[in-house]
Amino acid sequence: MSDTDVPARFPVTLIPGDGIGPEVVASARAIVEATGAPIDWEDAEAGADVFRKGVASGVPQETMDSIARTRVALKGPLETPVGFGEKSANVTLRKLYETYANVRPVREMPGVTTPYSGRGVDMVMVRENVEDLYAGIEYMQTPGVAQALKLISVKGSEKIARFAFEYARSEGRPSVTCATKANIMKFTEGTLKRVFEQVAPDYPDIESWHVIVDNAAHQLVKRPEQYDVIVTTNMNGDILSDLSSALIGGLGFAPSANIGNEVAIFEAVHGSAPKYAGKDVINPTAVILSAVLMLRYLGLFEQASAIEHAVFVTLESGTLTGDVVGYDRGTPTTVYTEAIIGNLGKQTENWTVREVKPLELPALSSQPDYVRPTDRNVVGLDVFVESPLTADELGASLIELAHGTRLELKMISSRGTKVFPPTGAITDTLDHWRCRFIIRENPGDLWDEDVHQLLARISRRHTWMHIEKLMEFDGELGFTRDQGEN
Ligand code: NAP
Repeated sequence: MSDTDVPARFPVTLIPGDGIGPEVVASARAIVEATGAPIDWEDAEAGADVFRKGVASGVPQETMDSIARTRVALKGPLETPVGFGEKSANVTLRKLYETYANVRPVREMPGVTTPYSGRGVDMVMVRENVEDLYAGIEYMQTPGVAQALKLISVKGSEKIARFAFEYARSEGRPSVTCATKANIMKFTEGTLKRVFEQVAPDYPDIESWHVIVDNAAHQLVKRPEQYDVIVTTNMNGDILSDLSSALIGGLGFAPSANIGNEVAIFEAVHGSAPKYAGKDVINPTAVILSAVLMLRYLGLFEQASAIEHAVFVTLESGTLTGDVVGYDRGTPTTVYTEAIIGNLGKQTENWTVREVKPLELPALSSQPDYVRPTDRNVVGLDVFVESPLTADELGASLIELAHGTRLELKMISSRGTKVFPPTGAITDTLDHWRCRFIIRENPGDLWDEDVHQLLARISRRHTWMHIEKLMEFDGELGFTRDQGEN
C-alpha cells in the first residue's frame, strides 16, 4: 500500500461534559466509531467538576492543550455551578479559539410531529459568536444604572457575512438573509447590515436580502420555510436560533458547530438537563447531528451522510425517545443508539440527505484590523455624570462650570432622550446624565488639556464616571444624536 492509500486519521478532543452530557456524547461516539471514521479521540475534561477543583475558567490547561493540538472538539453541555466563578466554560471555549461562527441547522425530522410538519423547514442559523453584548463588558455606572458595551466590528462582520455565504455555497443553498436591528442601532447592528450588503455581490450565485430582526422572528413563526441561511449578530442569533429549534421538535434535535479559522467545536444546542442525567432516557440526536457536522468539517462526507440517513431511518421506523412520545413510552438512549448503528448503510426513500461540499473559510489577514480614515475630527465630548439634581439645575451648573473653557454644553440627555435645554418631553429621569459638550471654535483640535480642564471644573461640583470623544471620520458623524436633539 502506498502512502497515499493510507487514510488520514483525525484527532478529536472529546469532552463528555455535565448532566446528560456523558450519555449523549457516548452515543455519538459509538455511532461515529461504527461508521469506521478515522477518528482518534483524546478524552478531556471541562465543566462542573473542573470548577469544583478550583479552576476558575472551568477548562483545565490539559483540555486547552488538547484542543490546540487537535483543532477539533466534540463536547457535551457544560454547567457553571452556582458559586464557582461567573464566566461560563462554554463561552470561554468559544472565545479562546476565536470560533466566530455559530452554526445551527434546523430541519424537520421524520416522525417528530410539530405544527410545522410537512412544510419542509430546513434552514441554517449563522450567529456571530464572539462580539456584540457577549463581549461581556459591563459596568454599574451609578449604583442604580448598569451599562453593557455592544461592540461590533467591521472585521467581525465581514468574517461572519462571508462565512454565511460560503456555508450556503457548501450546502448548495440558494439564499442568505441578514437579520439585524440596523433601523435602531445604526452603528452597531448597522455595521453588519452594511458589510453584508458590501460582500453580497461577491456571491452572485446566492440571493440575499436584509430583514429587520423583529420581523425575522415573526416570519420564522409564520413562514419559516422561506429561509435557507440566516446570518445575524450574537444576541439576535441566540434568541432566533432557540426559537427555530422549537419549530422542529425542540432541543433534542438541535445540533451546532462553533467554527473559526483555526479551531472548530461541535456540540448540541441544549444544556446538561440535570433532571434526566444517568436515567438512559434522553434524546441524543442533537449531539449525533453535531458529530455529523464535525465529520463534514473534516471532509468525511460519506460517514456523515451514512449517519444522517441512519438517523432518518430510525426515526421513520418509530423508534423515538421520551421527549417526543412521553418519557413513560420512550426508547432508552442506549437502545436508540443501537438502532441507529443497526441502520447504518440503510437509506430512506422519503428524506433526502444534502450533498455537501467542503466549506471554504473566508481568508483573513492575521494583522489587526485598522480602518484608517483620510480625515478625523473631534467635535466635542460626552461626559456621563452621576447627579441627584434636576436636568435644569444640572444644566445651569454645567454651563457655568464650562464658561471660559474650549467646550460649551450643548445638551443633556437621560437614557437617550434630550432633557436639557427643556423640550417639553415627558421623560422619567434618573441620577445618570449624558452631558454633551461641543467645541466652541476650531473643531478638530481638542487637546487633552481641554478635556482635563473641563473634567476638573465638573469635578468641583459633580461626579463624572465616563467620557467619550465625539468623532467625525471622513466627514461622517461617528456618534448618534439623542431623541429630540437637532
Ligand atoms: P437544558 O439543559 O437545555 O434543559 C432545558 C430543557 O430542555 C430540559 O429540561 C428538557 O425539557 C429539554 N432538553 C434539553 N436537552 C434535551 C435533550 N437532549 N432531549 C430532550 N429534551 C431536552 O437547559 P437549562 O436547564 O436551562 O440548563 C441546564 C444547565 O446547562 C445550566 O447549567 C446551563 O448553564 C447549562 N447549559 C449549557 C449549554 C452548553 O454547554 N452549550 C447550553 C445551555 C445550557 P423538558 O424539561 O421539557 O423535558
